[in-house]
Amino acid sequence: MSAAAQPAPAQPAAQPAAQPVDANALLDRVWPASAQRDEHGALSIGGVGAAELRDTFGTPLYIVDEAEVRTHARRTVAAFDEAAAAHGTSARVYYAGKAFLCTEVVRWVTDEGLGVDVCSLGELEVALAAGADPARLGFHGNNKSTSELERAVEVGVGTVIVDSPIEIERLAAIADRHGAVQPVLLRVNSGVHAETHEFLATAHEDQKFGFAMDAAPAAVARIRELDSLRFLGLHCHIGSQIFGVAGFAESAARLVDLHAQLLHDGPVPLMNLGGGFGIAYTAADDPTPIDDLAAGIVAAVAQECEVRGIPLPELAFEPGRSIVGQAGITLYEVGTTKPVTIGEGAQRLYVSVDGGMSDNARPALYGAQYTARLASRVSDAAPALVRVVGSHCESGDIVVENDHLPGDVAPGDLLAVPATGAYCFSLASTYNYLPRPAVVAVRDGHARVIVRGETIADLLHRDAGVAEERNA
Ligand code: PLP
Repeated sequence: MSAAAQPAPAQPAAQPAAQPVDANALLDRVWPASAQRDEHGALSIGGVGAAELRDTFGTPLYIVDEAEVRTHARRTVAAFDEAAAAHGTSARVYYAGKAFLCTEVVRWVTDEGLGVDVCSLGELEVALAAGADPARLGFHGNNKSTSELERAVEVGVGTVIVDSPIEIERLAAIADRHGAVQPVLLRVNSGVHAETHEFLATAHEDQKFGFAMDAAPAAVARIRELDSLRFLGLHCHIGSQIFGVAGFAESAARLVDLHAQLLHDGPVPLMNLGGGFGIAYTAADDPTPIDDLAAGIVAAVAQECEVRGIPLPELAFEPGRSIVGQAGITLYEVGTTKPVTIGEGAQRLYVSVDGGMSDNARPALYGAQYTARLASRVSDAAPALVRVVGSHCESGDIVVENDHLPGDVAPGDLLAVPATGAYCFSLASTYNYLPRPAVVAVRDGHARVIVRGETIADLLHRDAGVAEERNA
């Protein structure tokens, strides 16, 4: 176990954010490159002003900066291509669709050279509807059903990442019936688990995904016995929002050990190290640039292979958050503000917006931290300590736990929350019957809906008890 291995800390307890120099400032590493303020102080993204977005599409609204997604996608492919080439191999990058999936995003990332990872029939159908090449899709999941596997084999999904002994038999039987030979990766638990910036390395992981390392050789032997499956290699995903190389290197060392063992009985052309590259949500986050991460991870795998005297396989990665996270902004309208005394004369201004945990579940689910800025204007009012909260009937309905906004923030102001491109739209709910917001893509001064917003009528339409004529 690496010296760096130690229990992952919980998210740091949220302390009131240090008073910022400028409560209107847009921190580069949190906002998309196109985010700027016009001469009146109003925010624009992708060349489209916040007020125009509100007037045209309403709030709350998910905004995705197409150029920003494409830039991250392109840089990631280039970083891994370069790192792999430096060690005489090649790399595939799959976009982990669970971060934020719709046909338009699939088109952007596939245009930029990525494959796509899906983990349900629904995600698979979105990727297919976008025209993605099935051969460049990976299919994940610990409980893929027969019909999901049928569809994957039928359309020719390039890689199925098998997760259990039952799935091996299920998939082999389906591929056999289709007269197909299905390429598979075996998902293993390396025992390294990272959840933020530290990682935990153990002998076994008590979790639902994949095979224990010591169960993998028998599973691979079984795959190799089956004519309708072709073993490609091992797959491992150690966690999310990871900043450094150390956790990946520790996991790679364990994986390469197993990989070398498997080479005794047949080819192992590929190794997939998953995703998990971190992004900046607030000023407290300082993620490792993708070039450095790619170079460090590939070098670590190459070194482990060299030590064992085996060739470096082709490598694969599947980032989600780091492709789309920084490209997304959620636009809200402020409804009410309320000062609350929090002790020793200190006050916090509660700023209520017209969305909340239904459009961003991450603060409630993970204690995730975000920031907010006035989008309709700037103000030189003294900064106030604020908590941005949603409209739901939950006291945990928090959007931004601690930040500073100009103290004159008021009803009708537009508020923008950056870094909401990943795991917000995809985790959205209709809690309290709040319709899910539209997604609007911005680019070069134009905005267009890429996912239609829900309406109350959409929600009522699902209710079988609503009068038939109303639903007709
Ligand atoms: N691959 C697998 C198997 C995952 O489970 C996940 C996230 O849960 C990802 C890739 C993407 O992770 P991230 O969005 O943190 O890059």
